[in-house]
Amino acid sequence: MGQTSNPNAPVLIAGGGIGGLAAALALSQVGQPSVVLEQSPEFKEVGAGIQISSNVFKMFDILGITAAIKSIAVFPDGILFRDALSGEQVLHIPIGPEFLARFHHPYGVIYRPDLLDALVQACRRSALITLRTGKKVTDYTDHGSSVTARTQSGESYEGAALIGCDGLWSRIRERVVGDGKPRVAGHIAYRAVLPIEKAPAHARVHRVTLWAGPKIHLVHYPLRRGELLNLVAVFHSDRYEEGWDTYGDPQELNEKFKNTRPEVRELLSLIDAWRMWVLCDRDPVKNWSAGRVTLLGDSAHPTLQYMAQGGCMAIEDAVVLARKVKDAQGDFAGAFLAYQEERYLRTARVQLTSRFIGDYVYHPRGPAAEVRNQMLKNLTREDMAWLYDGI
Ligand SMILES: Cc1cc2nc3c(=O)[nH]c(=O)nc-3n(C[C@H](O)[C@H](O)[C@H](O)COP(=O)(O)OP(=O)(O)OC[C@H]3O[C@@H](n4cnc5c(N)ncnc54)[C@H](O)[C@@H]3O)c2cc1C
Repeated sequence: MGQTSNPNAPVLIAGGGIGGLAAALALSQVGQPSVVLEQSPEFKEVGAGIQISSNVFKMFDILGITAAIKSIAVFPDGILFRDALSGEQVLHIPIGPEFLARFHHPYGVIYRPDLLDALVQACRRSALITLRTGKKVTDYTDHGSSVTARTQSGESYEGAALIGCDGLWSRIRERVVGDGKPRVAGHIAYRAVLPIEKAPAHARVHRVTLWAGPKIHLVHYPLRRGELLNLVAVFHSDRYEEGWDTYGDPQELNEKFKNTRPEVRELLSLIDAWRMWVLCDRDPVKNWSAGRVTLLGDSAHPTLQYMAQGGCMAIEDAVVLARKVKDAQGDFAGAFLAYQEERYLRTARVQLTSRFIGDYVYHPRGPAAEVRNQMLKNLTREDMAWLYDGI
């Protein structure tokens, strides 16, 4: 397969989100230079929280950013699952010391800008990584022994290979997979963050609390060493078709959550300006590489957020990809095939399980909710070992 003509040519990375920056960092650790081309004027993440489970802490160790993450994350004692209508405590999953003892890495939650900042700082410390902002990749040519990426402003970048880390609406995926637009789930997420002192006492605890009701749920947990509270309210709606993000409508939210417990409505009433996401995913595919071009993270296997794993999978991807690049010694096409072969089943399981959890664990009503409550009571930590043991 086409060996690269220039052994020092960088790998081009389209997109500098969680996946793209993790990929640059992982590649630097195997001696592979890269250029990250990010469309935004700065490296920036949405002001919301993200759950980071033990499987991704294993990756943070490899990437050398565990200390930076631990200094700013929150480590909750447990995940509390409550019925949003009755208030019943359906399930409590301890994710404190017991979880750490079993999985050898912690379960944390972090403010997304803090996670991105840890990745950007680590990338800036590497002489092998070039970070470029304001570069929207619109197209590429695979020459067989190198790749040219072109940007909206008319610039061209030459590299040994190209990794599309350009998220759910990936331009690179259009060429590599060509399976059209993502699937609109019919689920809407409203997200907001507020100073923790503005939150009621029941929400000022180091815990992930999930209030689940018919076609709705609310999740809240503290962020940034406990200084902020993260709120994510999700409901079903066919009113929205495209995956854009914009401001939400508090009245619509109040209507959807009108039958929920007072604690839930009290939390929702604290926010005036919600950011809104139309949630999308895709059916899993087995092949997301073509020659010297591959995909990583949401561009490869976008998932609904019900397992809190999309970002974690992107970071796992980065570590596996870098190892395959190292092993392949210049055969990028071979490395990319080996990488997707190792990743597709695990990421597909996350995609499909997330759909199931959304419909049958978070949002069921009536007898289906009763079955859910019964089944959750029998859930053990080992049921999640396939995920949290990591790769
Ligand atoms: C409500 C919600 C909650 C979530 N909760 C969790 C959670 O708790 N845990 C978890 O692990 N995951 C969670 N996720 C999923 C997680 O946010 C994504 O899986 C993750 O952000 C994917 O990272 P990525 O780098 O692949 O893509 P993105 O984060 O989308 O980054 C893509 C980057 O590429 C840039 N870009 C796009 N197009 C181009 C282009 N043409 N040229 C150059 N740059 C481009 C973008 O500006 C962006 O910076 C959640 C998602 C949602 C919606």
